[in-house]
Amino acid sequence: MRVLLVEDSEELVALLKKGLTQGGFLADAVGTAADADHALSAMRYAAVVLDRGLPDADGLSLLRDLRRRGDSTPVLVLTARDGVSDRVTGLREGADDYLAKPFAMEELIARLQALLRRSDNLLGRQLTFGNVALDTEGRQVSVAGVVRPFPARETAVLEILLRRSGNVAPKRLFEDHLFGLSGDVGSNAVEVYVHRLRKMLADAGATVKVHTVRGVGYLLSEDKTA
Ligand code: CA
Repeated sequence: MRVLLVEDSEELVALLKKGLTQGGFLADAVGTAADADHALSAMRYAAVVLDRGLPDADGLSLLRDLRRRGDSTPVLVLTARDGVSDRVTGLREGADDYLAKPFAMEELIARLQALLRRSDNLLGRQLTFGNVALDTEGRQVSVAGVVRPFPARETAVLEILLRRSGNVAPKRLFEDHLFGLSGDVGSNAVEVYVHRLRKMLADAGATVKVHTVRGVGYLLSEDKTA
């Protein structure tokens, strides 16, 4: 996935490029708001990492222009300022996330990945977590790039979990969804389908697992050691 880096500090650009590449991203870097404008009109980026202190403009004015044009590319704003009011201003101008300098590269990568997951999930076509992907239009599940024939209800359970992006999905959500598919779903139906989904994911070599959050619902988490 290609990310645009808008940052004028050459030192930081070198570090960011290295970190992003290691994080699995392709990164283009520009040092001014004008160059960023050109890059963004020429190319579709998965996300933008935007410094506020640019030599020709405040990064936020670039962000404002971008949103005014109806461009919803996810933007993570970097800033030396860490005041609450700066953060609020950034978010109000359409930033999707905010990171104050100095920051740990791991945090930037993690936030960027979460941002991309959220934006994919909003578009709703391809939902991914770990090595599991669901094409919500073709209703096709793949694990590590291999298409797996998951039945409709297990796929529906997986979709709810993927749309929550690692947050707990309340049990009620599953009940509503499963009852919507057919009228005769028993009281322990959710447990049954979650159990089947767990087995299918494990058999397929998925790096994600379904956890039960007692009394609340279910949560998808990634097992990095798998
Ligand atoms: Ca700067």
